[in-house]
Amino acid sequence: MTKSIATLHEELLAKKLSVRELCDESLKTIEEKDGDVGAFLGMYSEAFMEAQIKKAEEMFTLGTATKLTGIPFAIKDNIVVKGETASAGSKILENHKAVFDADVIEALKDAGAVLIGRANMDEFAMGGSTENSAYKVTRNPHDLSKVAGGSSGGSAAAVASGMVPAALGSDTGGSIRQPASFCGVVGLKTTYGKTSRYGAIAMGSSLDQIGPFGNSVADAEIIYKFISRVDKRDSTSLPESARVFTKKLTKTIGVPWSFVRREGIDAEVLANFEESLKKLEQGGYTVKDVTIHELEKTLSIYYIIMFAEVSSNLARYDGIRYGLSEKGANSIEGYFLSRTKGFGDEVRRRILLGTYVLSSGYYDAYYNKATALREYLRAEFAKVFEEVDVVALPTSPVPAFGVGEKHGDPLAMYLADIFTVPVNIVGVPAISIPSGKTAGGLPLGLQLIAPHNGEEFLFTIGKDFEKVY
Ligand code: GLN
Repeated sequence: MTKSIATLHEELLAKKLSVRELCDESLKTIEEKDGDVGAFLGMYSEAFMEAQIKKAEEMFTLGTATKLTGIPFAIKDNIVVKGETASAGSKILENHKAVFDADVIEALKDAGAVLIGRANMDEFAMGGSTENSAYKVTRNPHDLSKVAGGSSGGSAAAVASGMVPAALGSDTGGSIRQPASFCGVVGLKTTYGKTSRYGAIAMGSSLDQIGPFGNSVADAEIIYKFISRVDKRDSTSLPESARVFTKKLTKTIGVPWSFVRREGIDAEVLANFEESLKKLEQGGYTVKDVTIHELEKTLSIYYIIMFAEVSSNLARYDGIRYGLSEKGANSIEGYFLSRTKGFGDEVRRRILLGTYVLSSGYYDAYYNKATALREYLRAEFAKVFEEVDVVALPTSPVPAFGVGEKHGDPLAMYLADIFTVPVNIVGVPAISIPSGKTAGGLPLGLQLIAPHNGEEFLFTIGKDFEKVY
């Protein structure tokens, strides 16, 4: 199912295809391929699916269909859908049934989209390979011996293997863009506050954003238009007045070359990145070298702030209110038992490190320094965006790695986030667009980063890039 959303919409409108046929095709492809790929943790209940199909068909009959009506979606398992399981890839939420819809889910439901199933992910979105899922690994549809990336590996692989034309994921430090790049699809991380976090199971609240996966920039843009909206239930949702963007495109792209040409970057990734920029130049863009001071430090900043927020956010899993509840001799013992049994190694590592950086005595040494540097970086990016429309980076320093290759080496895994985390630290939007393949056939991605609210720049330049590539 690699037809564009626009084409599918035309076919549905012209009755060349029915909503039911489209959904059946999606389910059939999942049945054929998901045994190997492992993109899904489960399908949504039949009754829910049936109701969605009926509603979508009705919208076509009534003439109220939107571009997303009848379009099948995979939903990352940390985005809650009322009445359905949302495990966040964790044993602690294995039997957790959501009691409300996330705002983005409400938006998709209103648009008549058909939510098909729960996409696999690293536990609580912590990871870059989906190997931290408590349930299974998602494999790369282009090479089953490689990872699909993460943490939204299931969403990316579901779109890349044609199981669904669209998916939602979440991005805290690259979890939409990196798997999109590994799987050869488009992934968009929105400006912080553009999509509501209401109903997104929290990892790092000042970093998390929900965003779309699609087969093209145009598809990602369509989904973005539906899910990006003001939501009073999320205190960090940007009000209408803060969503204004007035910059005019100058067709200038900035590249922090000294940051890109670094130890550890794969030679094929670097060559492909240079090639991508050449293509953009041929398409009429000017590429210039820019300096963003302290960019090197963003990985450290991320792995302090995120740990701190993880330790706070995951305190709520106490064996009483949500999910797994182990009975101990007393409530403290029950608390320890539930958390020990319910959380995997990576989650526990992050809670411990987060608690450490927030503890008195270390708070100033780590957390406060990281937040101060975060402010500095915001200013640095703002300065660069006075000179250029977007900043370009490879999405990942390496192509998809082998299943098991980095698992068990957390530092190696963290280092692979070097090009994606600055975006979340600063809160700006970014997109990953397929930019070709390695000699071995693994997809690579070009990352474009825009100023706050500059999603339009990403769409315009992204489409131009698709044309020249
Ligand atoms: N790979 C990063 C991490 O492990 C990003 C995760 C994410 O964006 N959810 O934290």
